[in-house]
Amino acid sequence: MDELLEQQLERIAKLSHDLKGPLNTIYSAFQILKMSDSEEMTRDSYYQAAERNIRRMTRLIDHFTNYYSMTNQGAKLNAKMIDGRRLVESLCVAVKDSLENVNVELETDIEGNGMVCLDELMIESAFLNLVSNGIKATKEDPCKIKVHASFDQGDLLLSVRDFGIGIEEKDQQRIFEPLVQLNSLDKGTGLGLSIVAEIVQLHGGEILLESAPGEGSTFTLKIPCQIPVESKRADLKQFDPDMDRLQRAKLELADLL
Ligand code: ADP
Repeated sequence: MDELLEQQLERIAKLSHDLKGPLNTIYSAFQILKMSDSEEMTRDSYYQAAERNIRRMTRLIDHFTNYYSMTNQGAKLNAKMIDGRRLVESLCVAVKDSLENVNVELETDIEGNGMVCLDELMIESAFLNLVSNGIKATKEDPCKIKVHASFDQGDLLLSVRDFGIGIEEKDQQRIFEPLVQLNSLDKGTGLGLSIVAEIVQLHGGEILLESAPGEGSTFTLKIPCQIPVESKRADLKQFDPDMDRLQRAKLELADLL
């Protein structure tokens, strides 16, 4: 069999396996829920298990569809002026609220404040991916994650630091390639960092990585100020996105829940 075909079949087999696990859990949960005599607490825990696993499947499928549409159909930035400090604070609150049952110490350090012009949903997705990776790479309990943000004349520097297993120098470039996972047991799709790299590239920015095995990793997004779409120029006041953000964060962090 030719090598490319073999790789593709292997990928499809892994994807099917990754979808089958949550699907089995959802199916079993519904079988139990159908039994009318189960207690309320038992029913609640099966509803929650079903919801968690639906999120896992959704995230998996979203990664493939998002990556495909970004790279093949071309994605457009929807850049808006927003309050940078407020954005980073809101992202960190969404992470904490999503992970209330996971032992994570999230430390936030925000320098300065200022308006930034960027695609908020894309930056949110990139940030959540980095946080999810940092937590997955950490065995210590509680898991420590440090978020640092600084603003300079509309430019944003946003970094996520973990103290987990770290990444060897030889792997530091290739983890941004699609479908690369360093450990075959890694939860996820191998597309997270490729999506982050696409998002940063669309913003004309760059992503920096400092990492050493056993010491953890710091991923830093350098996002230069965008030129807002004409119609968005006056859009300085933002609707309150926190509720929706919490739902999106739960999806993006589904591997951890
Ligand atoms: P995945 O969906 O598997 O997390 P990513 O593209 O986000 O895919 O990451 C690719 C691989 O890079 C991961 O499977 C993991 O092996 C490695 N990796 C990513 N982030 C980290 C990190 N913070 N620490 C250690 N390894 C990491």
